[in-house]
Amino acid sequence: MSRYLSARFADLEAYVPGEQPQDMQYVKLNTNESPFPPAPAVLEAVNAAEINRLNLYPDPEGKALRQALAERYGVEVENIFLANGSDELLNFFFMAFCDEDKPVAFPAVSYGFYPVYANLYRLPYSEIPLREDFRLEPSDYCGIGKNIVIANPNAPTGRVISISEIEDIVRSNPDHVVMIDEAYIDFGGESCLPLVGKYENLLVCQTFSKFRSLAGGRLGFAIGSPALIEDLDKMKYSTNSYNINRLTMAAAIATIKNDEYYAANSRRIQENRAYTVEELGKLGFETLPSKANFIFTRCPKVDGGTLYQALKAKGVLVRHWDKAVIADWCRVTIGSREQMDVFLEKVREILGEVG
Ligand code: PMP
Repeated sequence: MSRYLSARFADLEAYVPGEQPQDMQYVKLNTNESPFPPAPAVLEAVNAAEINRLNLYPDPEGKALRQALAERYGVEVENIFLANGSDELLNFFFMAFCDEDKPVAFPAVSYGFYPVYANLYRLPYSEIPLREDFRLEPSDYCGIGKNIVIANPNAPTGRVISISEIEDIVRSNPDHVVMIDEAYIDFGGESCLPLVGKYENLLVCQTFSKFRSLAGGRLGFAIGSPALIEDLDKMKYSTNSYNINRLTMAAAIATIKNDEYYAANSRRIQENRAYTVEELGKLGFETLPSKANFIFTRCPKVDGGTLYQALKAKGVLVRHWDKAVIADWCRVTIGSREQMDVFLEKVREILGEVG
């Protein structure tokens, strides 16, 4: 830290992203990316003509992309906000809606960025504990009079709550914004988007990083009432008007037009998830029920940190956190069948070695 950093950030603990090793070829099952490349049409969309236009700023309103998303989801352009990854959207959520008088609540075991943003803006926040087996109890969030962020499916657990449970939460907190982070919704979960037309205080957050194989393009979006979208716009135009670059916008429009390619990939990932859970079960692992493109699993013989290290030494990267309640567990991204077979083979070797 330099002596110039503002004192208000002295204690800030920044988010630590999953490892992105550039040196060695790992079987990379640690940051929930898709194992599949973008659809061929995306390569055609990000072409020489588009690159040739990089001397010009992109459309700050992202009209063409918002139009494509509006058609895809059966909403209006005014319901859609674009962000540089859903991380930026979360940033704007905390910036726009939360303050001393409007505290924020989220689950104690969830996406690690939520408390980082809360601390960045020095917000009062509550981390609501999960129940047994990392189950989220919706009634813990009903009528609490706070802004709320819930990842559904939750990360890193993979567990879901239902649309009617989300509706209870949204309906019972009418003076606060409820953000449902659906980063992993397209791997078997049910989106709460149908509720958007009914509730002004609901924001649904999605990303192109997982199901749509575009983590490197950095694109997230929110769907919500025009009033909330206007508030997010205010944050964007006070931060970075051109937050989505031209190439990403072109790639994203082509992506939306190729839904079937991505749906087929999702089906493969869901099959590989069932296969991996079953094989781990034969080895005595306990795995939470997951509707995401990852699983949260616990080894009968070694703690999470040891398993993570042993897998890394064998060239397989998974995610582990030292936080006490989840220290026994590892989060494993579901990749291709070949990747999962390498993962399982290395797990079997490690179990053999510990005897
Ligand atoms: N929400 C959740 C629950 C996540 O796990 C992630 C990915 N790390 C994000 C949001 C952010 O994803 P992105 O910024 O790539 O859209």
